[in-house]
Amino acid sequence: MSSAVARDEVVLDVCERAPAYVRGIAPYQPGKPISELARELGLREEGIIKLASNENPLGASPKALAALQAALAETGRYPDGNGFELKAALSRKYGVSQDRVVLGNGSNDVLEMAARAFLAPGASAVYSQHAFAVYPLATQATGAAGIEVPARDFGHDLDAMAAAVRDDTRIVFIANPNNPTGTWIAPADLLGFLRKVPANVLVVLDEAYNEYLEPAQRGDSARWLDEFPNLVISRTFSKAYGLAGLRVGYALVRAEVADLMNRVRQPFNVSHLAQVAAIAALADQEFVQKSYELNREGMQVLTAAFSRLGLSWIPSHANFVTFKVGDGAGVFQSLLKQGVIVRPIGAYGMPGHLRVTIGTQPENQRFLSVLESVLAGHR
Ligand code: PMP
Repeated sequence: MSSAVARDEVVLDVCERAPAYVRGIAPYQPGKPISELARELGLREEGIIKLASNENPLGASPKALAALQAALAETGRYPDGNGFELKAALSRKYGVSQDRVVLGNGSNDVLEMAARAFLAPGASAVYSQHAFAVYPLATQATGAAGIEVPARDFGHDLDAMAAAVRDDTRIVFIANPNNPTGTWIAPADLLGFLRKVPANVLVVLDEAYNEYLEPAQRGDSARWLDEFPNLVISRTFSKAYGLAGLRVGYALVRAEVADLMNRVRQPFNVSHLAQVAAIAALADQEFVQKSYELNREGMQVLTAAFSRLGLSWIPSHANFVTFKVGDGAGVFQSLLKQGVIVRPIGAYGMPGHLRVTIGTQPENQRFLSVLESVLAGHR
């Protein structure tokens, strides 16, 4: 190494040598963990409720928990990097061959694999204003340009998104339902969009909250894969299946797209315990149904109370609802002080709104009574 190069390296901080597009990433802001709030406020963890990360208030399916217990002893071994059994179960459920299933460390991993496999500096990705934060993050991490399309009524404006696709666009991200707005796109509209988008642009259809849709609203997107070879369907075990802490999600795609995504995938990205629990969770549709029903009841309770309190909210098709309080950051802090964690969404360009996950009935009641007292202080 020449001394000039060595001197340069001494002068330049190593962090400044990370690509500007990486240094420019605004970190994802997760929901506040219960343990953190307990430490900060000196509260007991049992006295805190967290309705901030769209987790399943019932926890995990008892069958998944039993499968986990039984699998603990195998922890010393690497997982099956190919996820054979889980892919087989998903392949049976959706009627697609196993080479069309890609497993992820949560569906977040699936979204990032799609970005890493298809984006690079000089390319672009299209997503909606107020859409899930990982789309811009995953895009920016590759050095590609993000094209944010203004939302319509807080939801995706599909016509404007199709029109925003450029020659350098490689991916369009769509969340259906969307987080944090809970908005939903009817299957017929999605099909119209898929027919409009050039076949050489990947459409990543993120269906993390699909199980919370009414059965009649759920498009049979797995069937669309045959017509649209550029479609990536992303699903997760984190929400209705109750396995958020284990990190497991998947994509259904054309085999050639799966092959590309697998090339940028970590060899053992889904742990053995996650795979075992996901297989058991998939088999326990009764638990999923129970989660769906609890969510519907809770949604009714919360939105009826919002009406009573004179608050407006965005009609939601997911397991959370976003409502308007004016001073989102202030109300969020006041709720925290009383041990209720919700999600401020200023980072989504919605500083006047808060997002609350539907909880158990007692959690919903506690949230509402604390909210009511907090709002009295903010008016
Ligand atoms: N997509 C959407 C729309 C989400 O809201 C989330 C979770 N917040 C994810 C994907 C990722 O979830 P996970 O990685 O747990 O599957």
